[in-house]
Amino acid sequence: MAAAPYFASLARPVSDIQKTRVDDLVAYAQRQESVFTAGDLPAPPALAVAIVACMDSRIDMFRLFGLHLGEAHVIRNAGGIVTDDVMRSLTLSQALLDTREIMLIQHTGCGLIGHEDDLRQRVADATGTEPAWELGAFTDVEASVRRQLEVLHESPHLIGGKSARGFVYEVETGRLREVG
Ligand SMILES: [Zn+2]
Repeated sequence: MAAAPYFASLARPVSDIQKTRVDDLVAYAQRQESVFTAGDLPAPPALAVAIVACMDSRIDMFRLFGLHLGEAHVIRNAGGIVTDDVMRSLTLSQALLDTREIMLIQHTGCGLIGHEDDLRQRVADATGTEPAWELGAFTDVEASVRRQLEVLHESPHLIGGKSARGFVYEVETGRLREVG
């Protein structure tokens, strides 16, 4: 029998052929309920920090920063791009839930590194439709972080926008570099 692919060997086994991975995740969450103790946390993040980051599965924000439940907002999307929806979330985070500092995190090896037209073509080939939005491709991750910071620094909707700081996380080394 051929060896299982590397990633398949890491994945949680599907326990029943009729079930999906989501069923297994739901079952795990149901077991967690019996040991849940964080029901009295207030909604405003205790550290008053909001983190905007790429959705890449290799970056665990809570482990990277030693965060616990109730300490920070973590807003993630493909690339860690400050889209209108990220701005919507940050505005609510600051105006109603009292966060003030913002960290923006993009990373090496991001799937968005490349050219917008190429990325659009790949998406269109896979789905059969033209994406309705800009996908946010970039060729230089540090330049991209600087571009996102400009948007944050200039936004009239943010209370702490000027203090936003940007970082590149290296998925190959685990190193976090600030982009000045
Ligand atoms: Zn990414």
